[in-house]
Amino acid sequence: MTGDTMRCLALIVAGGQGARFGASVPKQYLPLAGEPLLRRTLGCFLGHPGVDGVRVVIRADDRDLYGRAVTGLDLLPPVSGGASRQESVRNGLESAVDLAPEAVLIHDAARPFTTRKLIDGVLGALATHAGAIPAVPVRDTLKRAGPARDGGTLITETVDRSSLWRAQTPQGFRFDAILAAHRAAAQTELTDDAAVAEAAGLGVAITPGDEDNLKVTTQDDLIRAERMVSGGGETRTGFGYDVHRCGPGDHVMLGGVCIPAQSGLVGHSDADVALHALTDAVLGAIAAGDIGQHFPPSDDRWKGAASEVFLRHAGGLVRERGGAVINVDVTIVAERPRIGPHREAIAERIAHILGIAPSRVGVKATTTEKLGFTGRREGIAAQAVATVRLPAAD
Ligand code: MG
Repeated sequence: MTGDTMRCLALIVAGGQGARFGASVPKQYLPLAGEPLLRRTLGCFLGHPGVDGVRVVIRADDRDLYGRAVTGLDLLPPVSGGASRQESVRNGLESAVDLAPEAVLIHDAARPFTTRKLIDGVLGALATHAGAIPAVPVRDTLKRAGPARDGGTLITETVDRSSLWRAQTPQGFRFDAILAAHRAAAQTELTDDAAVAEAAGLGVAITPGDEDNLKVTTQDDLIRAERMVSGGGETRTGFGYDVHRCGPGDHVMLGGVCIPAQSGLVGHSDADVALHALTDAVLGAIAAGDIGQHFPPSDDRWKGAASEVFLRHAGGLVRERGGAVINVDVTIVAERPRIGPHREAIAERIAHILGIAPSRVGVKATTTEKLGFTGRREGIAAQAVATVRLPAAD
């Protein structure tokens, strides 16, 4: 999951024109509660610890729409799709040959509610299967019907639904296997990537899907999606505070950015006081304890750790609950070093770690007029707040 090799690539297919949708803009770029649908979908994969890179397949004509929708997100360069979804996926896979991922998750851009748990299920099944897809059992009784003599529609048969499933995405595959399967199926039209894998004789497992993992296909779906995002949901706020002592060194880590300084900061991890306060703020907003509970200082794994691991984990917990970070704001209290010149870099770094736009990250700095421990340059403090949107309370 870490290191230089790419273990898992998420390929998001956003090549559709949305002909069925009847809007002037393809549906994946339409706002969903004020945020482009595609951006929300990408948030499901950015920051997932099992996903090393995210690439979007787009229509060449949509380049500007795409650029606006993904501002500030850490994505691989997009790749142009083809005339059909299948061709788009194949283009995406071919574009990733150089990245040599072990696994790929192929996902519809129009599914913005994929949970971390669902992704975990698919990735877990890839340990033992060439492919795995999330699916939900069919619960409605199924009827086969045909035209009646009077012009209406008449049931001809009740279909046994006991072995029927509704396929969702992301569909996960071992990369080399699905690439070969797509190349082999280039002349055959198939409805999803699992069908491409099946045609190649690959074993594709079913993992738990989610009724909320909705594909926005019609206007009604978009209205339902809006309701899922805002209606019935609620907003929560969390607060964080942290202090680290100054010590020997020539730099400090603040907000994930290395800043040259006359002294360093002492701590078990990289002592990034700003990211620690922010992590606590995000954890606080979802009542998920504090940083020390999740990453005990007694655990040697976190010795010298880059603190972005902590913040990314907190952001992941929010997404796991079906929520989203709306904004964060951090105040760094330090006499030295001067934060101003690094403010923008810090905001961008934090935005990147949380998978949100830099416009949702506030970074401020203040001194204490040489008063107190921060004034005497004995330590640096940071305060942070985070606002989080969660689905309806349970
Ligand atoms: Mg700390």
